[in-house]
Amino acid sequence: MVYNWHLGRQMNYPYEAAYPERQFAFVFNINRCIACQTCTMACKSTWTFNKGQEHMWWANVETKPYGGYPHHWDMKTLQLLEEANPGGQVWKGPAGGDPEKPYGEFAGKTVFEGRDTSLKPDSSRVLGYLPTDEEWNSPNLYEDNPLGKRGQRDNYKMGGGERLPVHNSWFFYLARICNHCSYPACLAACPRQAIYKRPEDGIVLVDQAECRGYRKCVEACPYKKVMYRGNTRISEKCIACYPRVEGTDPESDGEPMETRCMAACIGQIRMQGLVKMNQDGVWAEDRQHPLYYLVHVAKVALPLYPQFGTEPNGYYIPPRWVPKQHLYQMFGPGVDHAIERYAHPDRELLAVLQLFRRSNRIIFRYEIEEGPRIYEGELRGRPVTIYNDTIIAFGKKGQELFRTTIDEPVHVRPPERLNSI
Ligand code: SF4
Ligand code: SF4
Ligand code: SF4
Repeated sequence: MVYNWHLGRQMNYPYEAAYPERQFAFVFNINRCIACQTCTMACKSTWTFNKGQEHMWWANVETKPYGGYPHHWDMKTLQLLEEANPGGQVWKGPAGGDPEKPYGEFAGKTVFEGRDTSLKPDSSRVLGYLPTDEEWNSPNLYEDNPLGKRGQRDNYKMGGGERLPVHNSWFFYLARICNHCSYPACLAACPRQAIYKRPEDGIVLVDQAECRGYRKCVEACPYKKVMYRGNTRISEKCIACYPRVEGTDPESDGEPMETRCMAACIGQIRMQGLVKMNQDGVWAEDRQHPLYYLVHVAKVALPLYPQFGTEPNGYYIPPRWVPKQHLYQMFGPGVDHAIERYAHPDRELLAVLQLFRRSNRIIFRYEIEEGPRIYEGELRGRPVTIYNDTIIAFGKKGQELFRTTIDEPVHVRPPERLNSI
């Protein structure tokens, strides 16, 4: 048994609990993603451009509700869990109070628990399925398709006039990479123990020399982020650009650097970091760490499908215009609080949101210097005061990485460069 703080309870897992000193984690702000796919191509052009990797997209961005790579990966896993535990996939208890149970308690079954009642053969340690070759094709199928009428193809609500809090016609972009889970299903399923989680940063890797291509990991990962390579007959996955995270990449000057997909993000939706872990499996308190702040203090960023049970280390600020039922299923019971906080940010949250993509360096700590009042008025029906605070980011050794302000300065191009880039 291990403690899964996303679920607020102990959970079955085939290995003993072990936690890294620091854990690779990230926050994606869905509200800002424009589906430019720059992240997707940054990864592709770095790691998966070789023969046999044509179908591999370690980073991908899919349009919800219909898109998915592989097709319908999440609906299929949710359906398997529902079949294993009909009507029982529910949360109980209040979200928000106890730091060890920030989302309440999950009363249903995870992929590690659901397999006991499934019809899978005994050899399968985790509830899952193997996508077909066709499902790995067309990674961006249904791009920009909004919610349509059930059973009617291409029949969408027309006419515009959409208003918050929920749009009638809606879609959103879900950017995904491997979640470098605290309880990886891929690792649990591998009969050769070819998958391991690094003690220094929690990055999950497939040992290419040990893997024999049984694809148990592909079947088990509920996020479908391990992929089989036909010409080598072994499985591959996102490596979290570990030379950059370690600071051993030649470009990094020995300092931890964010991954390729993070650094390339045009929409500035991504922030990646290394969070401190306690040896009981919960995050160590680290009040001035931006990811700790977003996940545990402001609670605006939520795990993706926490009910799968792998304790994914990818967190998302949910989109504001999407029906809540859809978001509850995807991000759990913390959705109402997260959207409320994001829609009405306080002084600190507004400052921390400025840290996204100001630098390629991994931020370990932030500080805020208070600035003058620059706006007083109303925001979404409530009074608001905005201050021009300065937010300062620090690196691993405590050195200042950069500082930025709430009020972004306007730079006017000198006349001799008016027409140049
Ligand atoms: S997302 Fe999938 S591949 Fe990545 S660590 Fe979790 S279970 Fe393994
Ligand atoms: S972290 Fe690196 S390897 Fe993983 S998806 Fe992003 S770019 Fe690809
Ligand atoms: S680069 Fe950023 S904005 Fe563009 S698709 Fe990727 S996550 Fe979204």
